Amino acid sequence: MNYIPTIGLEIHAELKTKTKMFCDSANDPDEKKPNANVCPVCMAHPGSLPVANKEAIRKVLMVGKALGGKLAEYSRFDRKNYFYPDIPKGYQISQYKFPLVEGGELEGIRITRVHLEEDTGKLMHAQDGSSSLVDFNRAGVPLMELVTEPDIKSGEQAKRFGEELQLILRYLGVSDADMEKGQMRVEVNISLRESGGEDFVPLRTDITGNSTGTKILPAIKLGTKVEIKNLNSFRAVERSVAFEIKRQAGLLEKGEKITQETRGWDESKQETFSQREKEEAHDYRYFPDPDLPPLDIPGLNLDLSLPELPSEKRKKFKDKYGIKDEAIEIFVRDFTIGKFFEAVISDLNIGSGGDFVPLRTDEEGNPTETKITPASSMALVSLVTNYIISDLVGLMKEKNIKFDNFKISSEMFAKLINIVGKGEISSRVAKDVLKIMFEYGGDPEEIVKEKGLKQTSDEGAIKAIVDQVIKENPAVAEDYKNGKENALQFLVGQGMKISRGSANPGILREEFLLALK
Ligand code: ADP
Ligand code: MG
Repeated sequence: MNYIPTIGLEIHAELKTKTKMFCDSANDPDEKKPNANVCPVCMAHPGSLPVANKEAIRKVLMVGKALGGKLAEYSRFDRKNYFYPDIPKGYQISQYKFPLVEGGELEGIRITRVHLEEDTGKLMHAQDGSSSLVDFNRAGVPLMELVTEPDIKSGEQAKRFGEELQLILRYLGVSDADMEKGQMRVEVNISLRESGGEDFVPLRTDITGNSTGTKILPAIKLGTKVEIKNLNSFRAVERSVAFEIKRQAGLLEKGEKITQETRGWDESKQETFSQREKEEAHDYRYFPDPDLPPLDIPGLNLDLSLPELPSEKRKKFKDKYGIKDEAIEIFVRDFTIGKFFEAVISDLNIGSGGDFVPLRTDEEGNPTETKITPASSMALVSLVTNYIISDLVGLMKEKNIKFDNFKISSEMFAKLINIVGKGEISSRVAKDVLKIMFEYGGDPEEIVKEKGLKQTSDEGAIKAIVDQVIKENPAVAEDYKNGKENALQFLVGQGMKISRGSANPGILREEFLLALK
């Protein structure tokens, strides 16, 4: 039997704010001392009253705007009632009926809603099960929850959605969204269905079951869903989906029913396991929190201007600079490298210096050859891209250096690119100069001058090198003359070595061809 997976995600992200959601205790994810950041409000002392954090509201609305959702004008907070030792009040303040954001879209996946709630404390259990400790530093930290429609069809797609959302949260500065630190938590809802039955289209209903008539669900009857929790990496998201598809298909194949339940992810076994059967929304007895007034969003006068988003950055890098997709991904995902790239491009002053430089000219200065060194602006950009991605990133990894303590300024890097582009130094020399700049900083022009690395296209000088190499390697030269083609490569290599990389390799090669004819 062929089963089609249906997946919807619920994603939580801790917001980066100075204080907690409803009080002025610090929101500090790095606080190591347990229960340092607590106060009567987040500890639910009688008589204490919550006050909503405006910055947290603003951040959720920014996310909504970035995803093209509908931002609420009226909103409010509801109480979600349940008991657990990590939740001091006996309820969580959340949003049920009036989320801050409804709708929106990312990577072709429709967003159902984005709302604001508060995080819980953390429980630590003794190994032997004799006791548990509670740390309330995280209790009351602003938490965004985003819910998607069940539009996702594979673990890979779920992972991609999560990664793109993480990037957006970081670009917006609303969350560090580190999965390992629990700042971003992805829950996967997954069901299987048999193919077919695509022909009826129920209207979408709102949370109370009334038809809103505005949107439609997938035109199919979905299977019973299972929710997977404690996924602390995108890889776990992808793998847990693969595991569930197999497990559920196995059950359906045997004619068994899928139990609607919450399952955990066991990282060491790479398996999901049953945790509890799922509670229903009505079990939580949601009701409006009487301690918090409804929100008049326009009245808050929030600044919702968006920075450049990853998708816009990708488009700019592609349309304006024409760089390759792999390079674009590196620049978009690593914010600091992307910023450095853009700074170098701007320092290059492309437009003024971006003319073609002929390889060889005759006495009057007219180009004698069609070949040109890469000094056109596109070629320069591609040089910048290559030198950053293959050389600079490599050096940074090798020496474990981050951009914060980086010795090369964008101006000096641009200068290096310019002199390679003009053909003043060979790319081999450029790599060496880059290494020197990487260790000690400095001006590439001076390094080149100091070390005598300037590329020479001077025929006399190159001819002298060719003569020397042939004299020192007569057997190899003979081999070449007898038809051994790759002997030439060796000779050119020797010539480059003698010139310490400064000979123009193209001309060197040609001179060898002439000399060995
Ligand atoms: P619940 O009330 O059980 O929390 P929701 O309707 O709020 O369920 O949906 C929670 C998540 O599960 C959403 O991301 C939604 O897209 C997804 N979902 C809903 N039904 C299914 C299904 N049959 N299969 C897979 N995912 C589903
Ligand atoms: Mg739900």
